[in-house]
Parts: sequence; C-alpha cells; structure tokens
Amino acid sequence: MPELPEVETVKIGLNKLIPGLKITEVSHDTPKSFPNAQADVDQFLIGSGVVAVKRRAKILLIELSSKYSLVVHLKMTGQMVYVGKERFGAGHPNESLIGSLPDKSTRVTISFDNSAHLFFNDQRKFGWMRLIPTDEVSNIDFFKKLGPEPLAADFTAKDFKECLIRRVNSNIKAVLLDQTVIAGVGNIYADESLWGAKIHPETVVKDLSTVKINLLFKELRYVLELSIEKGGSTDRNYVNAEGKKGSYMSFARVFRREGQACQRCGTTIIKIRVAGRGTHLCPHCQKLKKAAK
Ligand SMILES: [Zn+2]
Repeated sequence: MPELPEVETVKIGLNKLIPGLKITEVSHDTPKSFPNAQADVDQFLIGSGVVAVKRRAKILLIELSSKYSLVVHLKMTGQMVYVGKERFGAGHPNESLIGSLPDKSTRVTISFDNSAHLFFNDQRKFGWMRLIPTDEVSNIDFFKKLGPEPLAADFTAKDFKECLIRRVNSNIKAVLLDQTVIAGVGNIYADESLWGAKIHPETVVKDLSTVKINLLFKELRYVLELSIEKGGSTDRNYVNAEGKKGSYMSFARVFRREGQACQRCGTTIIKIRVAGRGTHLCPHCQKLKKAAK
C-alpha cells in the first residue's frame, strides 16, 4: 500500500512535470474510481491548468486554476504515471509503472495540451479521484479527522507527545497507526521507528517516558525522511522521478526481516501481531516494560 513517503514521492515527481499544463481531455472507466458529475468535469476540470501538486497524509491534491482540486486517494493498489517526453511513475509497484499505457488497470486518463497523459491506475479499484472546490478540501470529513503531519516543520516532539497521550491506555503501535492521532504513518514506518527507539510495539502509551517519546519522534521523522530520499519503500519495480528504483526496503532494519539477526545486537528478529497488523521486532532490544505500580 502506498504510504506517506510514496505519496510524497508522487507529489515531488508530478510537481516537476505538470504545473502549468492545461487539461484538454479526461476519460475514465468505473465511476467508483472517478465519482464526479459530468457537468463539473466539463466546467472545472477540462480546460483548466494545473497550479500545484500537494499532499496531506496519504492523499494527493492536484490544485487547478478553476479553484477546484483533484483529490486522489491511491488506497491499496493506486499509482500515478505521467507519460510524455519524460516518464514518471510512482505509487503501487507493478509493471504498469513501466509498461505501455493505458492498460487494464487504468481507471482515469488525463490528457494535457503538451500531448502528455497522466494515468491513474488501480488494479483493485479501491482508490478514487474526486473533483472538489479547493477551499472546501480541508472541510471534507476525511481531512477534518486527520491528525497533524509528522514531517511538518512546526510539528515538535512536544506536539507529538500531546498527540500520543490522547490514547494513553492504548499500545504505541496502534496509536502510531491511528490516522486521527498522526497522519500518514503506516506499518513499515511504525515498526522501523519503534525498533530505532527500542520500544516494544505493545508498550502502553502511559508507560512511555518523555525521553522515550522524544526518541520515537526523532526516529519516526528519520525513517520517513530517509524513505522519501530513497524514493519510497517498495522492493519491486519502482520508478521514481529520476527513473531509479526505490530502495528504502534495503535500508529497513526490522520490517520483513523476521528470522534474520538484529543489526544492533544479533538476536533473531521475530514477527508477532499487534493492532491487527504483522509486527516486526527485536525481542532483546525491544523488551516489554511496564511502569511500576
Ligand atoms: Zn536487537
């Protein structure tokens, strides 16, 4: 599933290519992937120019000169591929990133005045692309419920702690994955940051010291930033803005490394289930500590 760093990679790549281009044509197959009234499409999408590409949590926002935005949720298998003189694709990793398009996974095709096309591909059809007035975007339910951006420049360790203690009796892994607490943290980055901070994923928030919370905050930003720098987390066919394959998975220290030695202490990494998700940890570095009663 494309997570925050992958969506950020899509944003960075598209921002180099589509601002300033005018949309000349849009086609789609299932309305589930493109739930927009034709009258709105004709009036606010066709003929408008791309102003900028932004991101909020795992959502991509393509701002248009019509004062509308295309709001894109990639969900499980969504990806965006720009094909013109240059080619850029990111999101869900599969052959469509590099193959001939449109293909059977293409849900929406946007054509530009420079003859380039932007393809929204989504094998499993859980993703969507919605046309919404730009000044209403922050008011839609989905955004209202989202917690703060972990990478925002003004988001501090103190803010992070205040977010976590809203769920003081829950385990830290569940809280990290809760999008209403902090936006955009997925399974990989939760496991990686907890390993970095030497915190057992089942530790209850109230048992975490301020020192540990500060360390977790630092580690979470570190893994997210490193992943963006490496072009996302996927370990399969992956093309980023420069046509390189994403390589974050080769930097993962605990995620999907069960049975291998912990890089810090040599103990075998194990996989357990926490918050309904496969969870990777080092049983030596990440001991489950409970505060003294
Ligand atoms: Zn270890």
